[in-house]
Amino acid sequence: MIMKEKERTVDLAIIGGTGSNVTLDNLEEVKVYTPYGSTSAAIAIGDFNGKKIAYIPRHGIDHSIPPHRINFRANIWALKKLGVKFIISPSAVGSLKKKHNKEKFILVDQYIDRTKKRVDTFYENGQLCHIGQADPYCDYLNRLFFETGKELNLDIQNGGVYICIEGPRFSTRAESKIFRQWGGDIVGMTNYPEVVLSAEKEICYCCIAMVTDLDVWAGECSECGIVEFAQKCEICGGTVDKLSVNVPEVIETMGKNVENLKKLLELTIQKIDIERECPCHHSLTDALL
Ligand SMILES: [Zn+2]
Ligand SMILES: [Zn+2]
Repeated sequence: MIMKEKERTVDLAIIGGTGSNVTLDNLEEVKVYTPYGSTSAAIAIGDFNGKKIAYIPRHGIDHSIPPHRINFRANIWALKKLGVKFIISPSAVGSLKKKHNKEKFILVDQYIDRTKKRVDTFYENGQLCHIGQADPYCDYLNRLFFETGKELNLDIQNGGVYICIEGPRFSTRAESKIFRQWGGDIVGMTNYPEVVLSAEKEICYCCIAMVTDLDVWAGECSECGIVEFAQKCEICGGTVDKLSVNVPEVIETMGKNVENLKKLLELTIQKIDIERECPCHHSLTDALL
């Protein structure tokens, strides 16, 4: 059932991909009209453990919206309108480091924006806004998720650099190697500008990146295992076989991690203190001209 938007308060939101939902009670669907057009889908709202939670499938209900066509502004604007103070954003990423294996969770703390054609601000005309992005992700949420991930014995890391590419294509090997040299931990297509738009709306934001593949920098040496792809292995001089990311691999790894993600979300959401005042809720102070 599609309901018209009405006054309500939602505590937190999940913007997710396939299988990143938590089980919500008293589910209803709400359509929010925004000055920026349609959200990725009608917003599902329901109860979970005493909290009101909204869910938006980032790529639409039938996964038909590619990364570069997501209406990020509509999604974030609508969540703010619903009263959301915390956004949790699970997303699939490729690894840029050997130590980040498939199925690892990384709580992102920095990004490098390599997108090219996305509108990344609500402040286009009139008032100017220079939002601070030195530490773009909510430290409170990251710490809670990390603590819970450890309790669940997951392979999880607090902190990591997310390189956001425009997509929808994957990177070349040359690009992937450059991203490694820049200090990137993971590469994905959706985190930017979701993160900065959330800051402009003073919403706590965290990204749970789930490693699904080794991107294209990697090769496989029969002696040394995973090494950076080159004509000859940098360690033993032997031959290196090419590895490259593909869609079935990403989907397979995501499938394996669905239950872990669900547990991580459900346990952490119970711990989030929705009354807590966070510095993220004041990010516009000193940002407006
Ligand atoms: Zn925060
Ligand atoms: Zn080797």
